[in-house]
Amino acid sequence: KSKQSGKNTFSYYSETLHEETLRKTSILNDLKDAIEHNLLDLSIQPKIDLTTGKMNSAEALVRWNRNNPYNLQPDEFIPILESTLMIHDIGKWCIEEACRICKGWHDDGFTDMSISVNVSSVQFMRSNFIYLVANALETSGLPAQCLEIELTEHVLMQDNKTVKSQLKSLKNLGIKLSIDDFGTGYSNLSYLINFKVDTIKLDRSFIAQVNTSSDHLAVVKAVIQMAQILNLRVVAEGVESEDVKQILVDLQCDYAQGYLWSKPLSVPDFTKELRQFNGNHDPQLHQAALPA
Ligand code: C2E
Ligand code: MG
Ligand code: MG
Ligand code: MG
Repeated sequence: KSKQSGKNTFSYYSETLHEETLRKTSILNDLKDAIEHNLLDLSIQPKIDLTTGKMNSAEALVRWNRNNPYNLQPDEFIPILESTLMIHDIGKWCIEEACRICKGWHDDGFTDMSISVNVSSVQFMRSNFIYLVANALETSGLPAQCLEIELTEHVLMQDNKTVKSQLKSLKNLGIKLSIDDFGTGYSNLSYLINFKVDTIKLDRSFIAQVNTSSDHLAVVKAVIQMAQILNLRVVAEGVESEDVKQILVDLQCDYAQGYLWSKPLSVPDFTKELRQFNGNHDPQLHQAALPA
């Protein structure tokens, strides 16, 4: 019996591998179709300025809600896209769409809004990335300083000429750079000195326990102090409770993001929130007040 089950194990594994390959191929085909037919969306999650209580920036997060038979979340389908050239198409679309959306808020009277976009490390390796970003800014009319690029520590640790020169060019254009999931990657912090990073996004895994674990609190406190010395802004990710928010305010953390304020929203829903949250701003009134 044991011999037999050994055989079965082998065929079980090869079948599983085969099924995995089929599944991935099928997902990729559906994703390709979704990209071609414009079935992806950006969800928008606000970042709150903890000193003023206003929302003047937001993160764009890709969603595949329409015609997604697998109900895959970005954490699942982004890595699949990264294993093919398709990440470049999606990445380009995300940046163009984010610039267009943010310019829309500016036209609506919210001229201090900025938007951040997540960019995969492979996107930086293609030398046309900088042109694609410059082009998206020009086409949309969004000022460069209103666009922020969220990258991971991994990108800054890469010893790659194309990556390094493009990071420099992004800064030269006036675009802001933000380190996502800070604290979960490398412990070599020399990149904070070698690259002109603007923002650190402290990972949710630290923030979530800041009110229950003195060790997590100590790390968060130390990172905020370091950031103040280096003149970097800190965004706390994944703030879900009033408790955690108050601790961050006390620690003089600059910005926060999380379900306490809002989940990522569709663009129309976010724009509604923006009007209410930032003091019942009425674009009609605003325009009427302008000289003809
Ligand atoms: P991320 O950039 O670190 O984004 C934060 C994730 O945490 C988002 O998940 C967001 O919905 C979620 N989140 C925000 N606030 C809270 C909270 O208070 N509690 C909890 N539990 N979660 C919160 P999402 O949208 O599923 O995205 C997951 C990851 O997928 C992102 O992590 C990012 O790495 C990647 N991603 C998303 N959109 C894009 C994109 O357009 N391009 C690339 N390259 N990656 C993307
Ligand atoms: Mg992010
Ligand atoms: Mg993050
Ligand atoms: Mg994350």
